[in-house]
Amino acid sequence: MGPMSVEVMGLILLGLFGLIVGSFLNVVILRHNTGKSLGGRSMCMSCSKELSVKELIPVVSYILQAGKCLKCKSKISKQYIVVEIATSILFVLSGISFLYGDNINYISFLLILTAMSLLVILAAYDFKHMILPDIYVYLFVSVAVLHAWVTYLNAFQFGWQLMGGIISALPAYALWFFSRGSAMGFGDVKLSLGMGIFLGVYLGISAIWYAFVLGAIYGIFLMAFGKAEYKSRIAFGPFLVLGFLITFFTQVGFIEIVNMILFL
Ligand SMILES: [Zn+2]
Repeated sequence: MGPMSVEVMGLILLGLFGLIVGSFLNVVILRHNTGKSLGGRSMCMSCSKELSVKELIPVVSYILQAGKCLKCKSKISKQYIVVEIATSILFVLSGISFLYGDNINYISFLLILTAMSLLVILAAYDFKHMILPDIYVYLFVSVAVLHAWVTYLNAFQFGWQLMGGIISALPAYALWFFSRGSAMGFGDVKLSLGMGIFLGVYLGISAIWYAFVLGAIYGIFLMAFGKAEYKSRIAFGPFLVLGFLITFFTQVGFIEIVNMILFL
């Protein structure tokens, strides 16, 4: 193996760190609202076997055990491995944007890693339970405000980021208001607000646009294959998170995409 650059080694370490954080996020997602604390040993959901150290290694344990509990052989939820790998990928992508992006310092980088972790929790929890827990949405909005502050250190730009939040929250707010909460939850409104504060006006609106387009494609797909009735509800949080990630990492907004489609 040839000499590795400091950057590549840093990104590999960040990926491994992401796997460890991801396995902690799994515990948060599973124990939220169950009355269980975040401390204490993890156990098999079926037979309550306490997990040993070698059963707790992110991704590796899952693959070695072929996705089954060592004792009772019942299937382990795919959530574990999906959350671990997703967190790892998001940390590496954040590292890349830290290395090659401008307008970024160590504090805003740490805030970005925190935001990524919160978004993994929100997307996974909404996907499972159709609700965005208040505590994690409020933490995300707070991290977004702090991030805007330490990244721009300029009252005008900071105000413009906050404006991005308000404008980005309007579509979800209108849907929530006019459907009296049946088409959209208020959690989606608050999540959109935080996303917009992170992204600013144009990219914030773009993230919401991606979320609606992807949600619509997914809905049509489900209907076409008869898996959903017209009125069945789909959690919108994961699509908002997806829209945020696409916009945040590519910095490509909806005008560029519409232009590309029109002038292909
Ligand atoms: Zn078991």
